Amino acid sequence: MKSEDCIFCKITRREIPSKIVYENNLNLAFLDIFPISKGHTIVIPKNHYSTLEDIPDNELTELYKVVKKIASMIHEKLQTDGYNILQNNFTAAGQVVKHFHVHIIPRKFDDDKFRVKIPRNQATEADLNNVLKKMEF
Ligand code: AMP
Ligand code: ZN
Repeated sequence: MKSEDCIFCKITRREIPSKIVYENNLNLAFLDIFPISKGHTIVIPKNHYSTLEDIPDNELTELYKVVKKIASMIHEKLQTDGYNILQNNFTAAGQVVKHFHVHIIPRKFDDDKFRVKIPRNQATEADLNNVLKKMEF
């Protein structure tokens, strides 16, 4: 996808409106228009990168400083009990907007939103060893 057509690049260029929470020279944070909970915020690099594998390490570091700053502010000011940091990469993982972004999703104890409680079975030692053998740099 070219950045001219990218919805988050358009937000960065102010070609479409957004509710901006925070901005610095490299990053922009704005409210998600389909929030999972009140205060659901999207943090992006102003430069267009598609996934985690594309964003340079120094920009990733700077972006996560912003994520931490906003998450802490949300925790205090919106009086939440916690928050999820979610970052989808590629369509199979649910990435819809192909501009790298981090979700900050405020949570309350009894909010009835998603819980990461997916049924799963304990792996055998052989399963773990087999996959570990393939996981090399
Ligand atoms: P993902 O599934 O990780 O690609 O999430 C993309 C997110 O961007 C979704 O939560 C959308 O609700 C949000 N989104 C899409 N368009 C806009 C927009 N114009 N302003 C704010 N958030 C948006
Ligand atoms: Zn973009």
